[in-house]
Amino acid sequence: MNKGKITKVSGPLVEAKGLSDANIYDVVEVSKDKLIGEIIEMRGDVANIQVYEETTGIGPGDEVVSTGSPLSVELGPGLLERMYDGIQRPLEKLELLAGEFLKRGVTAPPLNREKKWKFKAEKEVGDQVIPGDILGSVDETSVINHKIMVPNGVKGKVKEIKDGEFTVDQTVAVIETENGDKEVNMIQKWPVRTPRPFNRKLDPDTPLITGQRVIDTFFPVAKGGAASIPGPFGSGKTVIQHQIAKYADADVVIYVGCGERGNEMTDVLDEFPELIDPKTGESIMKRTVLIANTSNMPVAAREASVYTGITLAEYYRDMGYSVALMADSTSRWAEALREMSGRLEEMPGDEGFPAYLASRIADFYERSGKVIVNGQVEKEGSLSVIGAVSPPGGDLSEPVTQSTLRIVKVFWGLDYDLSYQRHFPAINWLNSYSLYQDKMDSYIDKTVDEKFSKNRMRAMSLLQQESSLQEIVRLIGRDGLSDDDKLKLDVTKSLREDFLQQNAFHETDAFCPMEKQDLMLDTILYFYDKSLEALSDGANLDELEELEVKEKITRLKLIKDENLEEFDQVKKQIDKECKEAVAKGEDE
Ligand code: ADP
Repeated sequence: MNKGKITKVSGPLVEAKGLSDANIYDVVEVSKDKLIGEIIEMRGDVANIQVYEETTGIGPGDEVVSTGSPLSVELGPGLLERMYDGIQRPLEKLELLAGEFLKRGVTAPPLNREKKWKFKAEKEVGDQVIPGDILGSVDETSVINHKIMVPNGVKGKVKEIKDGEFTVDQTVAVIETENGDKEVNMIQKWPVRTPRPFNRKLDPDTPLITGQRVIDTFFPVAKGGAASIPGPFGSGKTVIQHQIAKYADADVVIYVGCGERGNEMTDVLDEFPELIDPKTGESIMKRTVLIANTSNMPVAAREASVYTGITLAEYYRDMGYSVALMADSTSRWAEALREMSGRLEEMPGDEGFPAYLASRIADFYERSGKVIVNGQVEKEGSLSVIGAVSPPGGDLSEPVTQSTLRIVKVFWGLDYDLSYQRHFPAINWLNSYSLYQDKMDSYIDKTVDEKFSKNRMRAMSLLQQESSLQEIVRLIGRDGLSDDDKLKLDVTKSLREDFLQQNAFHETDAFCPMEKQDLMLDTILYFYDKSLEALSDGANLDELEELEVKEKITRLKLIKDENLEEFDQVKKQIDKECKEAVAKGEDE
């Protein structure tokens, strides 16, 4: 039996009897309104269903019909530039704001059925193909060429294929398989809880350059890596996510807002279409899909949105793209799990979260990675996941943050005190870390500057020494320090203010290419070395602290990307002024 009757309704959780043939995670249609739900627990013929829409007006006796298939998404051209809710219903901005106007149970197809796409065949009649092979492609937007791949489970010889204008549901190729001819169109369906297959996983070895100095230089994330960014309110979490969505060198960005209510996403909706991708000069929406929940969707829908998002991301990865998925905030998803678990009367774990919280979070982040995708041609694709966490009260020991940190390799710790001092991005350099650092170092040493990793380690060590020096200053005053240590405090101040601080709203500073990051760091350390040298050669500390070139150093971040030779001039000026200071010192 795949039809049952509701026996109990408790918020988003509906209990139904009589669904003996249904399976866990099957999608069901609830009541005559056909609300979409998912079976999350089965006991005999009693199913517990998590409903992704408001359940008011539904009660015992109403009918429930299992569709017999798991929650799936439609994959194909037309996803980019769109906004969807957690169960992939297309959304317009207005609906997000005023979700209550959205009729329950209405299902518009996720992909536009009318639009014609210009399909360009890349395979020919007679070619042997396996899943993942690219049959052809369409220009989905002006910046992304969408590959039409052989669907999973289809293998054989191309019998028909041609260029032309097709809608997504028209056949673009016929493949002769062992089990007969298979018509392939441009839609693939995929169950969201099942990771999409790939050929094999690679070790992430290239950085995802974000143009944010504190991230790329000190706490890099790899292409195919996973990072977590816990952000108390007002600490700059949203700004960082936007900066990454805008500047990271990913081909495709999937932005999942599993926020409290739809209105948290309206900022994103207002801003993203206006943001211009510096690489293409086009709106970043041309390579972006937004997933958001409307304000009338119950918390349970957050779970669907996380899975929907990562499935879309895997699909673009399979085409050979580098994809970045941002999830804001995964804490809201965890809270939804807690609420459902409570309603199911499961045994609660830490702070009421279900015992499977950690494994759910791990399964999600494990879908990131750099891989050789399926298909006969060896091709790389990567999926990087950046998850925001909002620990209540900034307490990092709470279960969601802890479960996340156990699995991700990068932690950007946003610090309320830093944001209060207007040090942005407020990533605390003393407690953040990246376990990709060694690999990323060797990559940057090879591609940008062989001194890079040495400089980076030295700068970090100076920053770490700073706090103990500051402690001494607090106790006995600055005069208690040696001249060397005073210079050390000067350089760490410069590292903080002239390097780590980066203004997301400044035209030149918002994005800093790796070459410039390297030159900035090198110049600051060069100044430190030269002034130490001058000091030991007899220059006065007061003199060194007043050098004109220091003003130039505070403005290094404003040097334009096309004028990087200016760094050489600054170094020459450092040489000159330090020499003069030594000469003056000798005169006295
Ligand atoms: P959250 O999302 O954590 O609540 P926001 O990202 O909205 O915090 O940041 C709060 C404010 O901090 C922003 O409105 C902005 O004024 C400032 N801010 C954050 N990051 C930066 C940055 N990199 N450069 C300049 N200002 C920033």
